[in-house]
Amino acid sequence: MATGNTFDDVNPATGEVAAQVHEADAALVDEAVRAGHAALAGEWGRTTAEDRAAVLDRIAALIDLRADDFIAAEVEDTGKPVALASSVDIPRGAANFRAFAGMIRVHGGEMYESATADGTGALNYSIRRPLGVVGVIAPWNLPLLLLTWKLAPALACGNAVVAKPSEETPATATLLAEVMDEAGVPAGVFNLVHGFGPGSAGEAIVTHPDINGITFTGESRTGATIMRQAAEGVRPVSFELGGKNAALVFDDCDFDKAVDGIARASFMNTGQVCLCTERVYVQRGIFDRFVEALAGKARALRPGDPHDAQTTLGPLISAVHRRKVLSYFDLAREEGAQVVTGGGVPELEGAAAGGFFVEPTIWTGLPQSARCLHEEVFGPICHVMPFDTEDEAVALANDSAYGLAASVWTGSLERAHRVAGRVDVGLLWINTWYLRDLRTPFGGTRLSGIGREGGRHSLDFYSQTRNVCIKL
Ligand code: NAD
Repeated sequence: MATGNTFDDVNPATGEVAAQVHEADAALVDEAVRAGHAALAGEWGRTTAEDRAAVLDRIAALIDLRADDFIAAEVEDTGKPVALASSVDIPRGAANFRAFAGMIRVHGGEMYESATADGTGALNYSIRRPLGVVGVIAPWNLPLLLLTWKLAPALACGNAVVAKPSEETPATATLLAEVMDEAGVPAGVFNLVHGFGPGSAGEAIVTHPDINGITFTGESRTGATIMRQAAEGVRPVSFELGGKNAALVFDDCDFDKAVDGIARASFMNTGQVCLCTERVYVQRGIFDRFVEALAGKARALRPGDPHDAQTTLGPLISAVHRRKVLSYFDLAREEGAQVVTGGGVPELEGAAAGGFFVEPTIWTGLPQSARCLHEEVFGPICHVMPFDTEDEAVALANDSAYGLAASVWTGSLERAHRVAGRVDVGLLWINTWYLRDLRTPFGGTRLSGIGREGGRHSLDFYSQTRNVCIKL
């Protein structure tokens, strides 16, 4: 269904328009919300957890079956290398449905046998009911992965959804709508709308009075706006927001593993993962050697055509985002950074010459107070700074308004546990980065979000728990 408005879907690896997308307006969003409530009042509202788990398994199987279509669409929308989309984005999209099918099958409620004054007792037990129609708003950096991370538990819990992918990356969500149909998801359960945030489909979702919960991944500033709007009607929100993540590298670490890990953490997906490391703190004794080794990894990255097997670095998502990242390249210099490597735009040939590429960039020499060490750049950059003591490293890591993720690199088990207990983040990795188990809690502290998703935490957000008390 369409309004008259369309917008361009641009391929960031070439700068060319790949498709035209229909923008949903408030009337269309209203129709989607009403379709969701009608579905809940119908067949979908009567499904069992097992019925829904079977549907989720079918969705996963169909994504696998159409993996090539999904990979092609994701690569066209994001410009990310095929190797990345085919090893992370698309398989994880399918894995999200499989994981939550498994979780809803085994998840039980609480039960208490309670004492009463007359001695006969009472039984308390809890049952889960869906929230209702959930608004799902996703960003562009891992489009299918992050959308399905929310859709899978929402559907597992029996909700209907109105979902909006980012305006930058509409394609895989559109394919997913076809898959939902094929998998037998009843009409009205999965409603997909396209468009922008303010004054468009995004705002229409979050301000709609009959949206019963909002789950959002994106910038912290956007989260704050949505929260104000969700306050009307006291709707629950789950927010996965920005980060300015630190890595702490101690001199007793496995040096090569730490260099490899932090190269991946800073440059994967061109630095456009909320979990990416932009602040690296390295113990002084290994600082120079570490900077040189990390710079070697950055210089070895190959930007270019995502379909070329040699390409290891994609473009930024858009011309606008590249302007933002380049403005931080300028700011870093103004703030006194030494540019160890990168700091510019690579010269590329062919179609990639029109793409939104930047060089992977490493800075040193900034004071901890620099804006570049506090604002999320969301590009292939990191700043490396030396530290002397464990206390100093912890204080530097915690010197941030964000609190999403951190990694600690050390050969000392005692130190690993000590530091893990003191760094104020939602996710902390020791001697690794972005190793995920979908049953674990995922989310951030402070500006990085509200709530946790993953495993039973997702089931808690996407359902209402009702306690039933029976006097025996
Ligand atoms: P964004 O906030 O600009 O947009 C995200 C989504 O929100 C898009 O679909 C957009 O159209 C929509 N939107 C924007 N304004 C809105 C409004 N007023 N009302 C309703 N919807 C609105 O974020 P982005 O640029 O797409 O994504 C990058 C950001 O996401 C980074 O800050 C990154 O750290 C963060 N992120 C966080 C996580 C996490 O799990 N914590 C994961 C990925 C990305």
